[in-house]
Amino acid sequence: SPDTESPLLKSLNPPQREAASHQEGPLLILAGAGSGKTRVMTHRMAWLIAECGVHPEQILAMTFTNKACAEMRHRVEALVEDPQAADLITISTFHSLCARLLRRHAKKIGLNNDFVIYDDSDQISLARRVLEEMGRSNERVEARRLIAVVEGYKNDGLTPTQAHERAFDQGTEQDAEFYETYQDALKAANCVDFGELILGVLELFRKHPDIAQSYSMQWRYIMVDEFQDTNPAQYELLRHFTTYHKNLAVVGDDDQAIYRWRGATIQNILGFEEDFADAKVIKLEQNYRSTKRILRAANHVISKMHTRREKELWTDNLEGADITYFTATDDREEAQYVANRVAQAVRAGQSYSDFAIFFRKNAQARAFEEQLRFEGLPYQVVGGMSFYAREEIKDILAYLKVALNPANEVDLLRVLNKPTRGIGNTSIEKFRVAAALPQVGGVYAALRIAAGEEAPEPVELVEPVVGGWLPGLAPPPSALDDPAVEEIRGLKGRTQAGVEEFVRIVEVVRQRLKEKSLSYVLTELINEVRYFEFLTDNDPERADDRKQNVMELLNAVSEFESEFTPDRQSREPRGVQTLRAFLDRSALIQSTDDIDDRGAITLMTVHGSKGLEFDTVFLVGMEEDMFPSARDEDPEEMDEERRLAYVAITRAERQLTITNAKRRRVFGQIKDTRPSRFVLDIDEDLLAIDPRSSSRTVQYGKSKPEARAWMPGAPVAGRDMWEFDQTVTEQDNLRQFNRMKAAAPKPQYDEYSQVNPYDEEPVWDVSEMGLDDADEDAIKGRTVTHPSFGVGRILAVSGKGDSAKLTIKFPTVGEKKVIRKFVQLL
Ligand code: ATP
Ligand code: MG
Repeated sequence: SPDTESPLLKSLNPPQREAASHQEGPLLILAGAGSGKTRVMTHRMAWLIAECGVHPEQILAMTFTNKACAEMRHRVEALVEDPQAADLITISTFHSLCARLLRRHAKKIGLNNDFVIYDDSDQISLARRVLEEMGRSNERVEARRLIAVVEGYKNDGLTPTQAHERAFDQGTEQDAEFYETYQDALKAANCVDFGELILGVLELFRKHPDIAQSYSMQWRYIMVDEFQDTNPAQYELLRHFTTYHKNLAVVGDDDQAIYRWRGATIQNILGFEEDFADAKVIKLEQNYRSTKRILRAANHVISKMHTRREKELWTDNLEGADITYFTATDDREEAQYVANRVAQAVRAGQSYSDFAIFFRKNAQARAFEEQLRFEGLPYQVVGGMSFYAREEIKDILAYLKVALNPANEVDLLRVLNKPTRGIGNTSIEKFRVAAALPQVGGVYAALRIAAGEEAPEPVELVEPVVGGWLPGLAPPPSALDDPAVEEIRGLKGRTQAGVEEFVRIVEVVRQRLKEKSLSYVLTELINEVRYFEFLTDNDPERADDRKQNVMELLNAVSEFESEFTPDRQSREPRGVQTLRAFLDRSALIQSTDDIDDRGAITLMTVHGSKGLEFDTVFLVGMEEDMFPSARDEDPEEMDEERRLAYVAITRAERQLTITNAKRRRVFGQIKDTRPSRFVLDIDEDLLAIDPRSSSRTVQYGKSKPEARAWMPGAPVAGRDMWEFDQTVTEQDNLRQFNRMKAAAPKPQYDEYSQVNPYDEEPVWDVSEMGLDDADEDAIKGRTVTHPSFGVGRILAVSGKGDSAKLTIKFPTVGEKKVIRKFVQLL
């Protein structure tokens, strides 16, 4: 029998120990913030492996963010004897797990396993096309509304048929109809949206209970963190995993349920209690995270909920400092105050990573970013626009996705005329008409016919494509007779050349993927479509930045490639496998994954902060209409805002500062504000009002939205970071830049090498960014920066111009060969 005196349980309190050493049967841990729920889960995993002979592959742990997964794996690694055992545990988000299962069994639900995952903007494009085809208004707002409706269905685990069954009037019937058509279009394009990842697996399990059961047999111990935020579809998934056993352990906190708007429901907790009436229920009441004062403040806020299960939370921690409350005259001063406080604390010995700034809405980040950048404080915005949602990144990936799967018409139409190839809307319309013919069967097929492709030798297919005409096969002769096809065969001049070029590029990429590495394919593709020239011509202002992003994509690919192990059993070429895995990963990357622990202040929305903890938290913008952002009339919504405030407060370990501004600019108008009711709910005794004057004037830098993160001393791309308003001259700008650079701490380079590159090459002229045209010998020995390898020195040069190959020694990764256009000379 297992050892309940195991050292693994020593660092736990009695109820935690009981939970961590729970072996068989359902388990429910419903407990407050910071009470060790996540800790109990990791200890239980280690304990099952060490003491109960459970094989790590039998454990499945689900959390909500990739970041949380990594953290959990890391903690288990530290607990188990053989760290490799931790690698064998399946620790996953719901979406990643389902993406994997769906790939494995795609055919069973009418998909091909090379399906592509759509993001929000792809969804909207598809929705608008579907609406157009249905002869309905395809206004953007309507498309958005319907996508939200579809997401709602999917969160509830409803198929189109079920949606029809539930329709209760003409409006809901029309929504269900849209859902059905949209779903067909997704399948025809061999694509899935986020909700479909989970619904698809549900469909699979509903149709094939034997498959569900085989997974249930494999994963004998299932654990779910943050259970309060699961939706009905996710709960059904968990139920399928427990057909063979009942070892489902869920941990959560109903006071922290903050995803009601995404379909999460407290009903799941009630459902669990019903479905597993014999579950062991464990309460954890001791908080280990926060000071007594912080915890009391949190309790004051949460206890005012309209409906709530009573829960007591106490702590043995120190009384702690008062909660600081600061009211600024406006949002700029608020930001200035926070920046000053951080700067002061860092001078006193704290590190930047101790600090987090939480706001209710993403847009609030801007003022703080500007100020932090102005003061030269390193920060990281978590939850801004994700890298993979950027236009240039989506463009480049679209080419690759089309090469992998030409039936994916959202991506195809995205890049068909991008860079411009003279294929205007009139021609595109002609292609779509021809594409609709069954004997043509897709836009890509129509393009190939228009390109005048001779019937090629049928090439061996990697995977047949679902929906549309098979690539590599000749168009059937019958396709050529139709008048709609004649239209596209009669194109002229530039358009004809453009179509030929597009088809050629896609085919070349397809061919190269079979023979070459993905990074090679990508580099060649960027050159061949002349994407950089396109950026320079079309968006000169931001071209430098956007090129940087494309380079960063190349880095991400090479990095991924070096770590990726292709499946040797598979007949698929390495390039194809790498691409597919890379696309999956990038589609599932979440904005919270960007957290960089190397010493930066974290800026994030309260939603993103769930499960995390920080020494010092600034909760900003605490005003009515801002936080809570809900209206009084809806008590449920107000309760959700209240839980959100509770989540924010309980992230703080030692220090909490609440700020707001007397006046704030809302939609361009300056308005007077009122303090948030949540501040007023906190007992006055707990608050210390900061007496600091707040009326100094400062200069504020203007930033561009994509320049999201910056480290002092880090190389700056282009001049984007330092565009000040008109009152500041270019000279001031440069001086300011140099001053900040000189003042900036440079620790991040010391981590990699003892040498600070800037001591050797103090060339910092903002006008000289990008590549210069010095001849090859002149650049040998020069210092360069590379977006992901950092600073290095050129050892050798071969070739000329932008595509020259440089051998560079990086202190971070050693010697690398890099194409010249992907580094910057310093
Ligand atoms: P949340 O509700 O915010 O997700 P949680 O209940 O998951 O919080 P954890 O993150 O597991 O709480 O724990 C909060 C902090 O308290 C962590 O730093 C954890 O290491 C610490 N902690 C938990 N239990 C103990 C214990 N028995 N002894 C010492 N530290 C503990
Ligand atoms: Mg937790």
